[in-house]
Amino acid sequence: MSQEELLKVEGLSVTYYGPPDVEAVHHASFDIKRGEIFGLAGESGCGKTTLIAALTRLLPDNGAVTAGSIAFAGADWLHMTPPEVDAWRWQKISLVSQSAMNSLNPVISVGDQIVDAILAHRPNTPKREAWERAEALLRMVEVDPKHVHSFAHELSGGMRQRVMIAMALALEPDLVVMDEPTTALDVVVQAQIIHQVRSLQERLGFSVIFVTHDMSLLLSIADRMAIMYAGEIVELGSRERLNRHAAHPYTRGLIDSFPSVFEKKSRVGIPGAPPSMVTPPPGCRFHLRCPERLSVCDVAVPEERVLDSGGHRVRCHLYSVDALRQGSHD
Ligand code: SF4
Repeated sequence: MSQEELLKVEGLSVTYYGPPDVEAVHHASFDIKRGEIFGLAGESGCGKTTLIAALTRLLPDNGAVTAGSIAFAGADWLHMTPPEVDAWRWQKISLVSQSAMNSLNPVISVGDQIVDAILAHRPNTPKREAWERAEALLRMVEVDPKHVHSFAHELSGGMRQRVMIAMALALEPDLVVMDEPTTALDVVVQAQIIHQVRSLQERLGFSVIFVTHDMSLLLSIADRMAIMYAGEIVELGSRERLNRHAAHPYTRGLIDSFPSVFEKKSRVGIPGAPPSMVTPPPGCRFHLRCPERLSVCDVAVPEERVLDSGGHRVRCHLYSVDALRQGSHD
C-alpha cells in the first residue's frame, strides 16, 4: 500500500443470498487517498449502497463478500473480528446516512447521542469534557450549540443532517462515508452542506466517500470519482477528466441527466432502467440502453482500459482497438 492510500479495494464482489441469489457488486477495485473526497455515482440499484455496506462492514445477514479484499489503514478490514470493527467504528471510519431522521434516536437529545458515542469509545473522557466537545462539534457545523439539548424532531432537515455530520466527526475519523447525505434537502440547503463538508474536510484532513446519483453535485465536490452500473465500476477518474473527457456512454448520460453548475444546457435522460441483477445482460451490462452500442457489446464483456497516466479508466468496447476492428454500430 502506498503512503497516500487510506483504503484499497481489490476485486470486491458481494452477493445477497435468496432465493434468488443476487450478486449486487461485481469485481470492484479502487483506492481512496488520505484527505481526498472520492465520489461514487450511479442510478438507484447500481450497487452503490451495497458497496458502501461492505466498506463499512454493515452488510445485512443475507449479504456476504464473496471475493476480493479491503485494506483499510494498513489492516485487513474484511478479516477483522466484530469487536475490532466496533473499536474502529467512529474512531477510524464513520457514516453519515441518507436520512438523519431515521438515524437519530427520536427520544434522546442530540447532545446525549454525541456524548454517548464519545464515551463509548473513550470511556476515560470526563463527562463535562464530552458535553463541551458536543457543543464544539455543533458549532463546527454551524448549528447553535443551544441545540445540544434538542431532539431530532425539533430541528430542520438541514440541521439534522449537520448534526449527523457533527456526530460522524466526533472522534476525528480518517474516513467519513456519506451516503446520499443531501438527497432529502432542498437545493439551497444542499449547497450549504456541500460547501461545509468541503471546508471541514480541507481543515481537518479526513477522507470522504461521497455517494450520490447526482453527477453535477459530484462534479462540484469530488476530487476523483467512480461510476457504477449494474454492480460494476464502469469508469473512474479525476473530477477534471470526467468533467471534460467522460469516456463511458453511461457516465456521459448521467452528466447530461442533471443541470450543470458550469454551463447552460438542456437535460437529457438515459432511456430505460438498470437491469435486474438476478440475471444481468450478457456482454456489456449497459448495452440495452447504450446509444453507442457496437455489435460486439451484446456478447463480449468489455475489459477495463486505462486511458491516461492519471489513472482514468473505463470499461467499454469503444476503447478497445480489437473491438473497434470487429464491431460495427447496429
Ligand atoms: Fe456502450 Fe458497448 Fe461501451 Fe457498453 S461496451 S457502454 S454497449 S459502447
